[in-house]
Amino acid sequence: MSDYTTLLYEQPAPGVARIVMNRPQARNAQNLEMGYELNAAFDRASLDDSIKVIVLAASDPHFSSGHDLRGDGGVVLGDRPIVSSWGGFQQPGAHGRFAREQEIYLQNTRRWRNLAKPTIAAVQGRCIAGGLMLAWACDLIVASDDATFCDPVVTMGVCGVEWFVHPWELGARKAKEFLFTADDWSAQEAHRLGMVNRVVARAELEAEVLKLALRIAAKPAFALQMVKKAVNQTLDIMGQQSSVDQAFALHHLCHAHNVQEFGQVIDPGGMPAAVKRRV
Ligand code: ZN
Repeated sequence: MSDYTTLLYEQPAPGVARIVMNRPQARNAQNLEMGYELNAAFDRASLDDSIKVIVLAASDPHFSSGHDLRGDGGVVLGDRPIVSSWGGFQQPGAHGRFAREQEIYLQNTRRWRNLAKPTIAAVQGRCIAGGLMLAWACDLIVASDDATFCDPVVTMGVCGVEWFVHPWELGARKAKEFLFTADDWSAQEAHRLGMVNRVVARAELEAEVLKLALRIAAKPAFALQMVKKAVNQTLDIMGQQSSVDQAFALHHLCHAHNVQEFGQVIDPGGMPAAVKRRV
């Protein structure tokens, strides 16, 4: 039962929607097609009053290798209803780049973070760069014991992914280590730091997430919505949104620097080999 080309939309139990990223051949890299389909699927689950909890999962073997640097899946920005309040996507230079990433990375992630229902990310295998953004936008993260987390973007000449909540998720000192080294961190380490709620065996991931979703779905919908808002607004009052916006501006300073130095938005020295061949 799917109206999507990059996702599956499932209802595994009463009250629970499961959105499954389904580009395993691309390690669930997020192209524009997937971004807009994710947005549509989240809206569908939000508007369906029978759904109380939304699970974001991924077909094996990996949760997500990040943003797809190899193309947009045929989608041209502006052809679809935009999720942000932005425009000017075809403008030259930093003007167009800033607009594009506001739309496809920053403001859609903020939208999903603010969905009016609890969300749970079920993470297995590798979760890299833009994959982190998706997991972090969810309220809870359950990881399989073989999951690893990594933001290698500094290696590519940019100061971390566009949704910059690393210090909030890891604490400032560990966030610096995570970004400076670009190491893969285990699910157990992420759990120890409070970034992951639970670690379960890979074979148990789907069942454990569903069990947790059903426990939450048994609670009153409005109270769930309000308590989520209360926690998110606490982070907002502490400055999280302004913090994300200032880091996004620095991210674009890095893109502008790379364009000037290398003629492309990232430092080619740090690009994965598969992408380098195509640029
Ligand atoms: Zn960027």
